[in-house]
Amino acid sequence: MRKELLKKVKRIVVKIGSGVLTCGENGVNPSFLAALAAEVAALRGRGIDVIIVSSGAVAAGRQALGLSDRPTTLPQKQAAAAIGQSRLMRAYEEAFSGYELKVAQILLTRDDLANRRRFQNARGTLDTLLAFGIVPVINENDTVVVDELKFGDNDNLSALVTNLVEAQLLLIMTDIDGLYTADPRTDPAATLIHQVRAITKEMERGAGGSGSGVGTGGMATKLAAAKKVTRSGVAAIVFAGKEQGNLSRVMSGEELGTLFIPAGECLNRRKHWIAFTLRPAGSIMVDAGAREVLAKHGKSLLPSGIAKVEGRFDRGACVRILAPDGAEFARGIVDYSSQEIVRISRQQSSQIEQILGFRYGDDVIHRDNLVIL
Ligand code: GLU
Repeated sequence: MRKELLKKVKRIVVKIGSGVLTCGENGVNPSFLAALAAEVAALRGRGIDVIIVSSGAVAAGRQALGLSDRPTTLPQKQAAAAIGQSRLMRAYEEAFSGYELKVAQILLTRDDLANRRRFQNARGTLDTLLAFGIVPVINENDTVVVDELKFGDNDNLSALVTNLVEAQLLLIMTDIDGLYTADPRTDPAATLIHQVRAITKEMERGAGGSGSGVGTGGMATKLAAAKKVTRSGVAAIVFAGKEQGNLSRVMSGEELGTLFIPAGECLNRRKHWIAFTLRPAGSIMVDAGAREVLAKHGKSLLPSGIAKVEGRFDRGACVRILAPDGAEFARGIVDYSSQEIVRISRQQSSQIEQILGFRYGDDVIHRDNLVIL
């Protein structure tokens, strides 16, 4: 299975967690990076594009700031990231130059990817760097983001970057071996799961918080990332990254870590972006009939099926679409503002112009802008 999947891979995103890259309080671990550089050089030699999503800025900065603990306040974290990010990049540069590889820094915020033009711009820059044979090293722009603009964690960022660059594989290098049947730190009977076809609620419940105390993600954020990429037909492998040589072993098809198998039915890049990168500005509750035609027959959302509107949003916003029981089952981009939708809800599309004095079209959400989750 793995070998089959790996055969098609031409472009990969490699996410490196702080726990893998840094050694305790001593900041970035140069010997890890030297080994990584050798493996990336070998992959590039096989014609595979490699995009790195690297954590470690905060961890590297903490050491430089002389903080003994992880910074707790936002300004402290941002200061640590500011001082750490340049150190992190210098360490990458030094390690990769040993293999004649150049690296480039790209710092992103969630806003950058939620804006379609900036998304496309970032994509253009990344493609150009790759065409020059350069290895992009991406991190969240920690020094400027506020909570509303955060990706949250780099697992999520790596999943969105995978969609951005249309990679065929996401590799998450972390400080545990992969997904276990239970928490291996507390349950000696826990065993490693080699292959996951569908991420279940039980898996999500069982995935605990962060293990190492240096990164922000735990297994839960890795599952969320795997879920996002497998929906667009991309595989993900979560494996122990600290042990040198594991990246090459995984890429040669060895059964290390946990492989998340791509879903049969795929979302295209734009729909993936609507479902996972955009931040919903409100919600629309539909009636049972509308739920049925949206979910089962891939139709557009018409005003007649709308039961309730929550939040204030403009035309062009992303909204959650809720079933009559309140459960979210879809997301989409609206063609009318929340106030307009309130006025036309439960009406026939032919009445829109009469009610509003104008019309953009028959649909509140066109099916091309609608994703069933
Ligand atoms: N962006 C953070 C850093 O570079 C890490 C976030 C994460 O590990 O999820 O330190």
